[in-house]
Amino acid sequence: MRASSPIDRLVESLKRLPGIGEKSAQRLTYHLLGAPDAHVAELASALARLKQDTALCERCFDLTDRSPCRICQDPKRDASLICVVEEPADLVSVENSGSFRGHYHVLGGALSPIDGVAAEDLRIAELEQRVRQGGIREVILATNPNAEGDATAHYIADRLRQLSVAVSRIAYGMPLGGDLEYADHVTVGRSMENRRKVD
Ligand SMILES: [Zn+2]
Repeated sequence: MRASSPIDRLVESLKRLPGIGEKSAQRLTYHLLGAPDAHVAELASALARLKQDTALCERCFDLTDRSPCRICQDPKRDASLICVVEEPADLVSVENSGSFRGHYHVLGGALSPIDGVAAEDLRIAELEQRVRQGGIREVILATNPNAEGDATAHYIADRLRQLSVAVSRIAYGMPLGGDLEYADHVTVGRSMENRRKVD
């Protein structure tokens, strides 16, 4: 077998990305070969620094290049509201809807017995700790509207029950089984507005 060429290596790497097949990988590779050197260098540098310069916020666990992140440090945001989401992409979705001006808490997934994800694999204890520290008036559970997201929301509501904090669940206008990450701005905004208190 011949040693793989730079072209083959890039095609192979690109094929590992979601939604990129052999054809797309080849098209991107040949596109880059014809692109200005500066553009290719910029892409290479951004890729090299992506993992190196990205960390988790010590407070909300969103991806950030500084900790605490910009949202946690923004004095114009309401620190007494915490919106709980599964993944950083869900946070982006809520943020883009413009419907929420509080703080966030990223769990790092949802409870899933099938996939072996238990409560201690998620940042639930850290959320509890934030609430215990005081100054939080409402925790808004914005986990996804599917079986795992619902189970996670119930579990967290239970854990927070004995603490003096209001707990609400956002009201999804999207079909059950949907994903916050892919919901449009209007739907996310409405879900946030119509959130219901969890008893
Ligand atoms: Zn943060």
